[in-house]
Amino acid sequence: MSEQRKPVLTGGCQCGAVRYALLARPDRVGICHGRVCQKAVGGPFLRLGGDPEIDLAWTRGVPTQFASSSAADRGFCAQCGTPLTFRYLRRPEHIDVSLGSLDDPAAVVPTVAMGTESRLGWCGGLLPSAPEYPAGEHNQAGFRPGPEPPSPRPRLWLAAPHPFTPA
Ligand SMILES: [Zn+2]
Repeated sequence: MSEQRKPVLTGGCQCGAVRYALLARPDRVGICHGRVCQKAVGGPFLRLGGDPEIDLAWTRGVPTQFASSSAADRGFCAQCGTPLTFRYLRRPEHIDVSLGSLDDPAAVVPTVAMGTESRLGWCGGLLPSAPEYPAGEHNQAGFRPGPEPPSPRPRLWLAAPHPFTPA
């Protein structure tokens, strides 16, 4: 069955080698102040939006994967380094994209704050009314890791195209 779906949001890396389309709006959106996310983006936090993988279509290239911990992989453009994705190995059917990589980064507003144990002091005023989830409590924010990942790790990022109609 070849259902035609229209992209709701589009994005990609700085150099244009990797492009994607989201076929649904992210079902959970947050910023992560966690130390690994800070490292991953070279900034104070990572802004993430998640979707089931079926709602994400790679429209040009695919990201290269980096195992940033035993729990998660991060996708980035191998040519320009732009951080693009985050995925818990225990929850491989869900993928988060870096919202800074959206073509319209203002289109999605975060509603939760995660990794708040590593939040920098001057970021304390961001999202003042958002629920906060320190590391290990991501489950309450809907980022719950699932069961143990299979070993060896599954091949991530099957490049099979998803049917969609360009905007
Ligand atoms: Zn690139």
